[in-house]
Amino acid sequence: MRPREDLLGKLRDGAAEGVVMIIGGGINGVGVFRDLARQGVPSLLVERGDFASGTSAAPSRLIHGGLRYLETGEFALVRESVEERNLLLLNAPHQVRPLPVWIPTFSWAGGAFAAGLRFLRLKRSPGPKGAAVVRLGLGIFDRFGEFHRTMPKHRAIPIAEARARFPGLAPSVKAVLEYYDARISSPERLTVELVGDAERDCPEAMAIPYLAVDGRDGAAVRLRDTITGETFRVAPRLIVNCAGAWVDPVDGALGIPERLTGGTKGSHLVLDRPDLAAALGEAMLYFETHDHRACLVYRLDGGKVMLGTTDLRTEDAEGAICSEAEIDYLFGVLEEVLPGSAPRREEIVFTVAGVRPLPRSAAGATGAISRDHSLRRFEPGPDRPFPVLTLVGGKWTTYRACAAQIADAVLAELGRSRREDTRALPIGGGAGFPREPSGRDRFARDLAEGASLAPERAALLLGRYGTTAVGVAAACAGRFTPVAGAGTYSVEEIRWILAEERATRLDDLVLRRTLIGFDGLASATTVRALGLIMAESLGWSAERRAEEVARCLTLLARRHHVVENEPDAEDHAQYAIG
Ligand SMILES: Cc1cc2nc3c(=O)[nH]c(=O)nc-3n(C[C@H](O)[C@H](O)[C@H](O)COP(=O)(O)OP(=O)(O)OC[C@H]3O[C@@H](n4cnc5c(N)ncnc54)[C@H](O)[C@@H]3O)c2cc1C
Repeated sequence: MRPREDLLGKLRDGAAEGVVMIIGGGINGVGVFRDLARQGVPSLLVERGDFASGTSAAPSRLIHGGLRYLETGEFALVRESVEERNLLLLNAPHQVRPLPVWIPTFSWAGGAFAAGLRFLRLKRSPGPKGAAVVRLGLGIFDRFGEFHRTMPKHRAIPIAEARARFPGLAPSVKAVLEYYDARISSPERLTVELVGDAERDCPEAMAIPYLAVDGRDGAAVRLRDTITGETFRVAPRLIVNCAGAWVDPVDGALGIPERLTGGTKGSHLVLDRPDLAAALGEAMLYFETHDHRACLVYRLDGGKVMLGTTDLRTEDAEGAICSEAEIDYLFGVLEEVLPGSAPRREEIVFTVAGVRPLPRSAAGATGAISRDHSLRRFEPGPDRPFPVLTLVGGKWTTYRACAAQIADAVLAELGRSRREDTRALPIGGGAGFPREPSGRDRFARDLAEGASLAPERAALLLGRYGTTAVGVAAACAGRFTPVAGAGTYSVEEIRWILAEERATRLDDLVLRRTLIGFDGLASATTVRALGLIMAESLGWSAERRAEEVARCLTLLARRHHVVENEPDAEDHAQYAIG
């Protein structure tokens, strides 16, 4: 990818006048950017932080069919989600993998009547669901999954088998059902890979991080470099507002006062619990809670355990942080299904919270708010000569379908037609990724030989970068210098990321280009070591490096519950993070 500074230079030269401007570099904005690039339409994407630094970095990391939405009768959404899940399994197999899901149920026939009412949309609030109701839902789910089927259908697990596998299951569990969904290792990396694919296909397309929409001066949108404060003015042909939980303030900055969204906050904990990780194995437990919500717990690739999530109305998308009350809640619900397993606070290595960008809705159970997306068009007016298309909602899983709908609307505005369907388009290192384990072993062996790497190292790179590992390995040139405190990453690999993936701030590297933060490896030592590599690669001054280290440590401590990570005297003065 070209360096950010080159793109800012083009902006100064007026290269973006009259373009389609996409606001928001989360998965939905990037999805639109990628689709338009494939249609030969260059666009300008502006993101006030890093790519995927908003809600797109806070999901349960499931690429899922949305089984739960059957309860509220959202069939079209479930069908679309299942189809998109199956496509992602095919197009991004290096990042998206099948996930066996176990649903323990606490009764056989419980909740059938109420579930029927919800199904018919005569009742909105969620209620208890026994095995019979869940099974009915799974049957429908299986039918939807027939398009590009990639995984087995659901089955009932004999309770004796379930208890043998999970001896800790609550005695009140009556039945266990298994079905398949999928999970994504790094939603942040896949977003960046999509940016790379788009700019490769359409070199005039530009995605610029740390550039915020600040307001509008007549026909021109005011953009502010959120690092240096420099201001730019660009007069777009059309705007696509994909600012997620922030679409209302962004529309407001463009002079549109209407409010369309109302978010709910959700938090996850990453736990260092080897015993729980071992018990879970490859399966995710997806269980109903005392308040009839669905929570989940599963083992991450790095061996830690992910536990989530909450669903709380919020007006404050800015300050989404996992609260102590949410930690108590999540510990409590885990105890309901696996008594005696409740974690301790010191076992938390990372927390992440995000705000779901949901349509504005009246009071009521948050679980009943639609998770579907819609597009709203604001006509141009005398003061604003360009239309604005605002996306409301939009899940991670369905981003491609959502982007295709938006790109079609943009193409219609431009009087152009679609050149290519994006359904079968591989993503980043998913191109040419071997489908079978034997093929992956062969690929890793060849990679190891070709790049003079240890075989396990080559396998790790393949798992992390897909087939792009060939380029990463070549850049490493047979060297492997472990990063202090995060020894599965090498200094050489980090340098490749810095050269290729438009990482701009230290936290981009710690939290999004790598899983160092998420896997609980972001000690102060590691952050400082990465700061040194980044300073050397990007030519930072000692002062900028110290500021970046302080900012990153403060962010980890305040936003992600990484304890003992407040900056010390060695680092710059504390960085203000809201
Ligand atoms: C707890 C939780 C769990 C979830 N789990 C899943 C899951 O497992 N699977 C799934 O499919 N979905 C899941 N979701 C939903 C999914 O994560 C989101 O719907 C999706 O990531 C939204 O992406 P987005 O691009 O619309 O928004 P975002 O990722 O938030 O992107 C919007 C971007 O706009 C930027 N922005 C804001 N203001 C400005 C401005 N003035 N100028 C420029 N840029 C601006 C922000 O910085 C942000 O990066 C979950 C959500 C939550 C909160």
